Amino acid sequence: MPAAFGWIRAEPHGIHVVPADCWIDPSQPVDRALVTHGHGDHARGGHGQTVATPETLAIMELRYATRDGATPVEYRETIRLPGGVDATYIPAGHVLGSAQILLEHAGERVVVTGDYKRRPDPTCPPFEVTPCDVFITEATFGLPVFCHPPVGQEIAKLLRAVGDHPQRCVLVGAYALGKAQRLIAELRAAGHREPIYLHGAMERMCRLYEEFGVDLGELRLVSDHSKDQLRGAIVLCPPGALNDRWSRRLPDPITAIASGWMRVRQRARQQNVELPLIVSDHADWGELTRTIAEVNPAETWITHGREEALLRWCQLHQRRARALALVGYEDEDD
Ligand SMILES: [Zn+2]
Ligand SMILES: [Zn+2]
Repeated sequence: MPAAFGWIRAEPHGIHVVPADCWIDPSQPVDRALVTHGHGDHARGGHGQTVATPETLAIMELRYATRDGATPVEYRETIRLPGGVDATYIPAGHVLGSAQILLEHAGERVVVTGDYKRRPDPTCPPFEVTPCDVFITEATFGLPVFCHPPVGQEIAKLLRAVGDHPQRCVLVGAYALGKAQRLIAELRAAGHREPIYLHGAMERMCRLYEEFGVDLGELRLVSDHSKDQLRGAIVLCPPGALNDRWSRRLPDPITAIASGWMRVRQRARQQNVELPLIVSDHADWGELTRTIAEVNPAETWITHGREEALLRWCQLHQRRARALALVGYEDEDD
C-alpha cells in the first residue's frame, strides 16, 4: 500500500504535487506553478504556467512585466490538474489575492495555507477554515511571545503622533505589497481623511489595489510636494528607504515601522525606529494554534518560520506534526 499522502512531497525548493507534476510557490522556475500570493518569496517569475488568482497574477505582472502562461482561478473555483488532482483557491486573509490552496486526490485533502492571518483586513476577504487531512501551515510568528495587538490600537498611536507634532511628519516604513494598503485602509476606517503621501516605489501597487476595488482615499506623491506641504502628514515608504537620503526632503520625520517584528524591541532600536507599530499580515501564535485546532487535520506540516515551537505545541496536544525544511522564504511580508 502506498504511504498516505505520498502524492504530495515537500522538497527543498517547494511543495511538489507529484501526479500533476506541479509545484506550490516554488523558489526556482518550473513548468507548472501554483502560486498562493504575490510576495516575492512565494511568487517568482519564469514559470512555464502560473496558476493563481487574478489579483496575484496582476501583481506578478506588475513585478515581472510578463504574463506568459498565466492561468487565472477565482476564489472557490476548482481546476482539474493532470494526474487527477483538483485544486481550489480559498481566501487566506493575508494580502490582496492571497489564497490557500486545497488539493484533492484519491480521496485525500491537503491544504497549503501560504501566508495567512485571522484578523480582519479591509483589503482582502478573510481566511476560511477548510477541513482537510494534511494542513501545511506557515509559522512566521510561531513563538508564544508573538501576540499582535488589535490593529486599531496601533492606528490610534500613529494618529496621536501626527496630531501631537503638526510641524513634523510621520514617516512609516511598510512593505509595498499589502502592509502599505492595509495601513491606508485602516487609517481611512479610523476617520483619517487627509491626503496620505507616498514614496514613488509604492504608487503602482496602490493603484493596482484601487483597480481591484480597494478604496484608499486621496494619495499623493512626496516628490510632487514641498517640505512645508508635508508638515503634519503621514508619509509611507518601503522600510529600506526609512534612513536613506530620500527622507531628507521631509520635515523632521518621526520614523515608524509597521511590522510584526516591532514586538521585538531590539529590532526597533536597531532600525532607529521612534514609533514601532506592531501590525502584521501573518498569524500570531494564538491565531496559528487556534487555526490548527479549528481545521483539526490528521497531520500538520509546518514551514516558513519558527517551526520548532509549533511542532512542540502540536505534540503536547496529541497532534501529528512535522517540520518541513523549505528554502528561499524571507520576511518580505511580515
Ligand atoms: Zn511568505
Ligand atoms: Zn506573504
